[in-house]
Amino acid sequence: MKGRCKICGREAFIKLHYPRMYLCREHFIEYFERKVQRTIDRYHLLKRDDWVLVAVSGGKDSAVTAWVLNRLGYNVECLHIDLGIGDYSKRSREYAERQCRELGLKLHVLDVRKLVGHGIGEVRTRRPVCSYCGLTKRYLMNKFAYDNGFDVIATGHNLDDEASFIFSSLMNWNVQYLAKQGPKLEGKGKMVGKVKPLYELTEREIALYAVASGIDYLVDECPHSRGAVTLRYKAVLNGMEEERPGTKLNFVKGYLRNRELFERKLEEMELRECRVCGMPSSGEVCSFCRFWGLEKPLDLRVRTRVEEGERGEKEIG
Ligand code: SF4
Ligand code: ZN
Ligand code: ZN
Repeated sequence: MKGRCKICGREAFIKLHYPRMYLCREHFIEYFERKVQRTIDRYHLLKRDDWVLVAVSGGKDSAVTAWVLNRLGYNVECLHIDLGIGDYSKRSREYAERQCRELGLKLHVLDVRKLVGHGIGEVRTRRPVCSYCGLTKRYLMNKFAYDNGFDVIATGHNLDDEASFIFSSLMNWNVQYLAKQGPKLEGKGKMVGKVKPLYELTEREIALYAVASGIDYLVDECPHSRGAVTLRYKAVLNGMEEERPGTKLNFVKGYLRNRELFERKLEEMELRECRVCGMPSSGEVCSFCRFWGLEKPLDLRVRTRVEEGERGEKEIG
């Protein structure tokens, strides 16, 4: 890299495209963390005394989320969901464990196979693997956070994820999705709130932050990944971004300004409690309990007296 850091004049580590500038390693780390804090403040994502659960997969986005929130002084614990997808899950878990060890963060692990009898991809069903994997991850993440008194769940979604998701939802006119995206999903009843602290950072910036901070992460793709469509949307957006830096950010911010158009279209879906597990559900039995054929609820509590701040541990699953 030929340029010089805009702040200190040392040799540059990165050339940012938007805003256009060169930064050295140290000043890039500072820039990145300041930007995350600004996102948190701008969208009121976290309060200083919140207990935050970060879902870590072993990949870069979730690792950087846990890493930065910890550096910014938030109370963070991590959850890894072992999906039971052969070697891929084994490696994901090893990476998640190493990342949390290096950060000194407490890591909880839920093992899908032990909890419901099968790993992801081992069930005979017409439902696509990624569809029931997604519902399983969302359910376990929420139930774990709820059972253990976490205030909020933080995920590693970045600007590229968000832009391509809005783009594909628009292409398919999926109004239900379009009404619910954004950096923050408020909690309600037994649904714990979700936030995306990396909302305004690009995949490239996140990968470079991981390199600059020495975070080791898994790059392997899940064998079930049908990333092709998402990757096409990302490629289109990247092409536009190259021609006009700032396109993705403007697209996502424009969406946020107009989200209410979709919200109005969406009828309030009335949620009731699942007959089996008592968690929010649109039908009599929630899709998790129905899919996995549960007859009694999972108990994911690892803490006995949450309200007194004891943070004892037990193995689950
Ligand atoms: Fe689950 Fe793999 Fe599909 Fe991702 S790609 S949703 S981890 S099955
Ligand atoms: Zn510098
Ligand atoms: Zn249920």
